[in-house]
Amino acid sequence: MMTSKERVESVMAGEIPDFVPVEPGVTLEPNFVMKYIGEDVDQYFRNSKKCFMAIKKIYKDFNFDMILAGFSALIYPELFGGKVCYKKNKMPHVEKPVFKGIEEVEKAEIKSPDEVPVFKSVLESLKMLVDDIGNEVAVSGCTSGTFSVASQLVGVERFLKSLRTDLEFVSKVTKISGEAIVEVGKKIIDVGVKYIYYPDAISSGSILSPSQYEQVAKPLHSMFFKKMKEAGDVYTIYHPCGSEYPLLCEIKNINNVDVFHFSENVDFSVLRKIFGPTKVLMGGVDIKRTLCLGNSAEIETEVRKVITGAGKYGRLILAPGCSGEIPINNLRSFIEISRKLGKYPVVV
Ligand SMILES: [Zn+2]
Repeated sequence: MMTSKERVESVMAGEIPDFVPVEPGVTLEPNFVMKYIGEDVDQYFRNSKKCFMAIKKIYKDFNFDMILAGFSALIYPELFGGKVCYKKNKMPHVEKPVFKGIEEVEKAEIKSPDEVPVFKSVLESLKMLVDDIGNEVAVSGCTSGTFSVASQLVGVERFLKSLRTDLEFVSKVTKISGEAIVEVGKKIIDVGVKYIYYPDAISSGSILSPSQYEQVAKPLHSMFFKKMKEAGDVYTIYHPCGSEYPLLCEIKNINNVDVFHFSENVDFSVLRKIFGPTKVLMGGVDIKRTLCLGNSAEIETEVRKVITGAGKYGRLILAPGCSGEIPINNLRSFIEISRKLGKYPVVV
């Protein structure tokens, strides 16, 4: 039997592993992770040891194949001198927009992630994961996405309005956001992480039209993946975060992406046809309706559909279509069912 790390590596190499690898997304959710060991949510960003111990415990208790952990767009304002509030039982939030106008954006200075305690803490927890269990499980570091970070710097509402009315502002804010994310990505690579995870909900198909995506988002995403490949020997994972159909042709043409993490909004058998037999696809299982609210029979139906649609010949990582807090019993069922149906050669 392969280790989790070997299982994911064989998928990346285009080989057929013993089982379809599974990644449950929960380790990217500060609420899930810290509650699991009875600690406060803010400790995910502020106490590297506790964050590491919690994630390791979740991995050991449930035995999945890829750990997804790292940065949230919510803490990025700190890299630009913004003040972020951390409360015990709440996700962090920025007190006020970092930039009001274009002049402020032009004068912005990006701090090194090493100078900002919460960034240092998250990097340390990733390093502890790699050093301690990186020989048995694939560790993936999340940078967050360019538009998601930009919207945190100026306020989500302002950002979305500017997409209609002030593209110059959008272009300047997304440019410096992209630069900051690249720096964070390089630091993640420096601590030994081999998989870089880049989710960007604010440039999804529910917010941007295909032409907007092509003109304003795609060049920035492409730049990010190119820079990561230049920075180290890493695999890149892109998560466009829902409403993917209108953007699929554009998404497919982004270079330097090794894994596409899609939501349940797209049919994985269609994706397999569009992306071809050699691309690694990830995701597919509905986080809300099935994993959070469904029962094990519903989880089984959906896991079967994803494997049959896109995983018969490898190159699939089963995962929720987006990360979220899965109830413990359903998390256990999801992993068990993935192992039962995902054994190669698959006979579903
Ligand atoms: Zn998502």
